[in-house]
Amino acid sequence: MVSKVTRSPGADSSGIFRRPRLVLKLKRFEDLPAILNKTKSYPTPIRMVGADYSQTRCVGGDGGTTVDTGALDKILEFGETFVRAQAGVRVGTLVHALAERGLELPLTPEMGQISVGALAVATLPQASYETGVAQMSSCVSELKLITPQGKQMIVTERERDLMRVLRSSFGLLGLVHEVVMRVRPLTPVKIDYQVHTLKEFAARFASIVKAPGALRLHISPFSDRITVERRTLDESASVSRSGIWQIRNSVMRNVLPAFGSTVGSVLAAPGLRAVMLSGVQRALRATLDRNTRGVVMYAHEWMRDMPKESWKARHTYSLWAFPEADYPKILAEYFAFCRSYYKEHRYRSNLVTGSSRLHQDRGSLFSASYSGPMFTIEPSSTGDQGWDDFLIDFNDFASALNGTPTFNQTRALQLEHVTKSFGERVKLFRALRQRTDPLNRLRNSYFAYLLG
Ligand SMILES: Cc1cc2nc3c(=O)[nH]c(=O)nc-3n(C[C@H](O)[C@H](O)[C@H](O)COP(=O)(O)OP(=O)(O)OC[C@H]3O[C@@H](n4cnc5c(N)ncnc54)[C@H](O)[C@@H]3O)c2cc1C
Repeated sequence: MVSKVTRSPGADSSGIFRRPRLVLKLKRFEDLPAILNKTKSYPTPIRMVGADYSQTRCVGGDGGTTVDTGALDKILEFGETFVRAQAGVRVGTLVHALAERGLELPLTPEMGQISVGALAVATLPQASYETGVAQMSSCVSELKLITPQGKQMIVTERERDLMRVLRSSFGLLGLVHEVVMRVRPLTPVKIDYQVHTLKEFAARFASIVKAPGALRLHISPFSDRITVERRTLDESASVSRSGIWQIRNSVMRNVLPAFGSTVGSVLAAPGLRAVMLSGVQRALRATLDRNTRGVVMYAHEWMRDMPKESWKARHTYSLWAFPEADYPKILAEYFAFCRSYYKEHRYRSNLVTGSSRLHQDRGSLFSASYSGPMFTIEPSSTGDQGWDDFLIDFNDFASALNGTPTFNQTRALQLEHVTKSFGERVKLFRALRQRTDPLNRLRNSYFAYLLG
């Protein structure tokens, strides 16, 4: 019924402990009810795993059964406005197959490994273009899952509230095996850069957020530099093969040296160096020798593939989201926090801090921008000594400033952070989970601690 049953190692070198007793490579989703029902053969908790690229213990084996969805890798149907895929399909594979048909997802992450199953039930905020779609799961219009009791269930957008809960349920309410996502015609994206000091950024913030487009920021607290990357959908832009990597003089002068010196110089392992550069940065680097006018590319072209062994690159960042209205002030506080932390502990994270603007998105219960438009702060590191301690203090800093964390990308999260950020939403989710899974067949210790 399953291709392989193995004993699993307890922890990997990135420090994420998992300790399942069994790891199953699922071949057919039809086997899931039997796995759920046979509690002796398949110990609790039953946890699904996609690419295993989360930053936290949200997969968390806990002496139970981890079900690897990697073999559920079929894209089942392409429509004009949707695509249907099995849970183990990687987003990178999906996005490239869509591009061949002139289609794309409404949001395209930079990392290709993410599994469709995780996309549907985890919190994956992306630099967004419009209200309502700022997390990957908001692209999902239908889910097929197996409930903790082993029953097949199909949920569509018509069941709005149920869908909202499932879209950030982390495998606690059911095991997803098939997902339908909305797609749209492939559209060129124009990318512009502006480099500001913190003071300039604060002064121009109102106009920065008012202008259309998705925003991704690259922040260097110690050199007082914020690079604003604006991605604008532009149907009229021409993306010729020779023109894809065209780039402005100012970008070459201001942006590349910032990334080149900050990112490149700190990475010891040569393999990691390529991994750490974002897809957009890599695209820019590829153009160093071209001195032309403006960057236009398709979203799938900025995707990058990470190593198959997730532990090699998993330890690289943490993420909190903050209310947009307060963001310049919060960023100033973040600069001050980084500097005073360095003064006291002689530690600073050794990569550029990322940030995405998130439009309000109530499509999932634990959406990072559920209560309004947000900007993230994502400190990044190669995982050097001092990083883990830094994140503990950064979490308290972020929580005190009304930040919102995620369960899969915010490291070292504590119960009080979750309670403060999500309040009533946690209570609602807990009540539902207890009702649908009274025997806690799907719950691991990580979520038992944070969500009850
Ligand atoms: C270096 C790096 C770069 C990254 N870049 C990006 C980026 O650009 N954009 C972005 O959005 N994220 C990014 N991430 C974050 C990462 O992609 C997410 O945390 C995501 O969860 C990973 O998907 P996965 O398949 O590895 O999920 P997993 O870690 O395998 O699973 C995530 C959660 O979903 C549950 N789950 C998985 N499959 C199923 C299923 N079929 N049914 C029910 N539950 C399921 C798991 O139990 C777990 O709780 C990055 C991470 C790293 C380390």
